[in-house]
Amino acid sequence: MHDDRLKEECGVFGIFNNDSTDSGRIAYYGLFSLQHRGQESCGIAVIDDTIVKQYKDMGLVPEVFNDEILDKLTGKIAIGHVRYSTAGGSIRQNAQPLVSKYLKGALGISHNGNLTNAYELRAKFESEGFIFQTSIDSEVIANIIARQRVTNPSIENAVSEMMNIVKGSYSLVVMSPRKLIGCRDPHGFRPLVLGKTKNSYVFSSETCSLDAVGAKFIRDVEPGEIVVIDDNGVTSIKTHCKKFKPSICIFEYIYFARPDTYIDGISVYEARKNIGRQLAKEHPVQGDIVIGVPDSGIAAAIGYSEESNIPYGIGLVKNKYVGRTFISPTQEKRENGVKVKLNVLKESVKGKKVIMVDDSIVRGTTIKQLVKLLKEAGAKEIHMRVSSPPFMWPCYYGTDIPSTKDLIACKYSVEEITKVSNLDSLGYLSLDKLDIITGSKCNYCDACFSGNYPAEIPDYSNEEEENNEVEIHKSAKFTLC
Ligand code: SF4
Repeated sequence: MHDDRLKEECGVFGIFNNDSTDSGRIAYYGLFSLQHRGQESCGIAVIDDTIVKQYKDMGLVPEVFNDEILDKLTGKIAIGHVRYSTAGGSIRQNAQPLVSKYLKGALGISHNGNLTNAYELRAKFESEGFIFQTSIDSEVIANIIARQRVTNPSIENAVSEMMNIVKGSYSLVVMSPRKLIGCRDPHGFRPLVLGKTKNSYVFSSETCSLDAVGAKFIRDVEPGEIVVIDDNGVTSIKTHCKKFKPSICIFEYIYFARPDTYIDGISVYEARKNIGRQLAKEHPVQGDIVIGVPDSGIAAAIGYSEESNIPYGIGLVKNKYVGRTFISPTQEKRENGVKVKLNVLKESVKGKKVIMVDDSIVRGTTIKQLVKLLKEAGAKEIHMRVSSPPFMWPCYYGTDIPSTKDLIACKYSVEEITKVSNLDSLGYLSLDKLDIITGSKCNYCDACFSGNYPAEIPDYSNEEEENNEVEIHKSAKFTLC
């Protein structure tokens, strides 16, 4: 939403269509409801037996596609992708799905996640003479699947072999001439669900897009599971399941996912409200109104209000039409940008002690601006409550967290952040209270808050941590997906 935010990672969608050939259009609606996961580029690829059609470009889903394009994207199987990347990698050729032609025909993949051994794998393939067309690690995955398919009896076997080779986070939809495959890495960092319309099957990053295409939720794809859809129905391969403790990204619940989504059986909206209730218990304060920073702070603010009996109100109004063209890379523009994206509802806050709930503080620039705007609008006091613990560590599993030198919690104590942000008080959710999100129903990754990485991290991380300058992407001319 604003630039002092972690960026959504990517969203994937796939359909095996037994009801019509309008698969591209269904993928369009699926991607439209995953738009919050990536706003830089998007694409759809459709396969009908041997014919592959694809369309992808920079921009939002409704900017890239129109009726004329969608009319041409007909076929039995479609996959789609919305993408966010680091700035350098935000180019058209890195847009997904990736479609390749090889010995066995066509192969399409859409990927959400980030491989931790992509650099080594790419270097190895390049030394063997392989040419890469993009700078995304998803192409490494496509390359391995294609190589493995040549010596394996089926595409699902090739996907399984790929899972023995790559490390890190990936939720994938893979399309071959006759099959649609969904798979999730053995840690299950990123979500992936399976749904069904009348006779057709759908994979999506989030359940909200199943609703958008009229599909019924069947189940989450399990960490490590390969789900294969073809004319014979659904097959599940669980060779890679239960190899590790599941580690769904806890930040999916706090910020990434839409509130109307369920992840691993847990409502994102309820999870956020529970965090708000917990914040009210941990950090009570006298106030006149509780407001949420749109969008992901809203549900937590409602929870805080319910627990504290302080009325909830709308204090900030978001301009919902700010698209990728508004992305402002410099600090100065970033600060000005907040004013355009969020405006204060003066009637709500004037003369009041305001409790403002947001999902996180990254660099701290947005908070300073919001406090300034609220005070200019007449707020008497501003008490900030944050529905996550302080960000202290980089993410190697697909979230674009800035380097530690830019994370405000790495530079300042809570008291200092309160002071530099001109807040009257500040309270974060405690690390040991993250459990209330999942209600202890599932294990999760909280490494960016705790430093406890549930899976191997790339070698370059040690050197960077020693220097206390973690450039997570310098690695690799790779971009996140
Ligand atoms: Fe999510 Fe943080 Fe773990 Fe990355 S390190 S997967 S952002 S919880």
